[in-house]
Amino acid sequence: MEGQGLSAKIIDGKQVSSEVRERVAGEVAEFIAGGGHRPVLATVLVGDDPASHVYVANKHKACDAAGIGSVHHELPSETSETDLITLVRAIGDDDGIDGILVQLPPPDHIDADRVIAAIDPTKDVDGLTATNAGLLAGGRPGLVPCTPAGVIELLDHSGTGIEGAEAVIVGRSNLVGRPLISLLLGRNATVTAAHSRTRDLAGVCRRADILVAAVGVPGLLGAEHVKQGATVIDVGINRTDDGLRGDINFDSAIEVAGAITPVPGGVGPMTIAMLMANTLAAAKARAAVPN
Ligand code: NAP
Repeated sequence: MEGQGLSAKIIDGKQVSSEVRERVAGEVAEFIAGGGHRPVLATVLVGDDPASHVYVANKHKACDAAGIGSVHHELPSETSETDLITLVRAIGDDDGIDGILVQLPPPDHIDADRVIAAIDPTKDVDGLTATNAGLLAGGRPGLVPCTPAGVIELLDHSGTGIEGAEAVIVGRSNLVGRPLISLLLGRNATVTAAHSRTRDLAGVCRRADILVAAVGVPGLLGAEHVKQGATVIDVGINRTDDGLRGDINFDSAIEVAGAITPVPGGVGPMTIAMLMANTLAAAKARAAVPN
């Protein structure tokens, strides 16, 4: 691996994201030229959280740029869980839609798990349904959650060898940590899942050739958690008084890492790129299944 010690390679998520998005745009054009339909993503947003509005708007822009159609459903914050589930089921039944994305988290009175359970698994471009989680855990093809899929793209792009590597993931959420365990295992890494009850976190992390932090605690991991030359991927996005910070203390870890992602500009931009890839994959899979 290039750049031991002080000269860790910075893994540029913006660059990799735009490469993936261009690749997907090319594949969308090819799919349509070959007689396929234009893939369409439906987004659903409940309430008026400003950050969620920005995220959804960015997803629609990315769809436009990739040649993917998109429709948006915006519901008032007082929408009932039943009404939301009814809408999600109707989108599932709509033959003109390939992907469904319900922007999370919903308002407090709505149970996100019940809404996710209403998503048609063939259109579950966030990879959050029990069906897709089960397929991934079983090593079978399905729709994979976007952020962990983006982590794999970054590792591949950085030239980090995954097969046979010691990978340590700190964090075991359904959204990031758990799917990443399966993805890395599927690529023949030796995988350790660390979490809040892990004894000697620094010792466990220092075993890692690939260290992924998906915790939500700004600057939790530093140089003392990083093996010399390791590839360090920081999934954390934490709003602090000093701006956006990752779970890795970047200035400290960069002294030891071989390659490292910054925050912002690392994993963050990958999520939307993988959403485009998943929407195309869902469209292709649906086109392949006779009605
Ligand atoms: P989460 O559901 O809150 O899970 C956090 C995980 O970290 C849990 O498994 C928890 O362990 C573990 N943890 C908490 N404190 C710890 C500590 N002191 N030592 C070791 N482990 C600890 O979080 P998430 O949804 O996975 O998100 C994690 C971070 O990634 C957040 O900053 C989030 O904003 C960011 N994120 C970014 C993207 C993106 O880039 N697009 C997408 C999703 C999430 P237990 O299981 O033992 O409680």
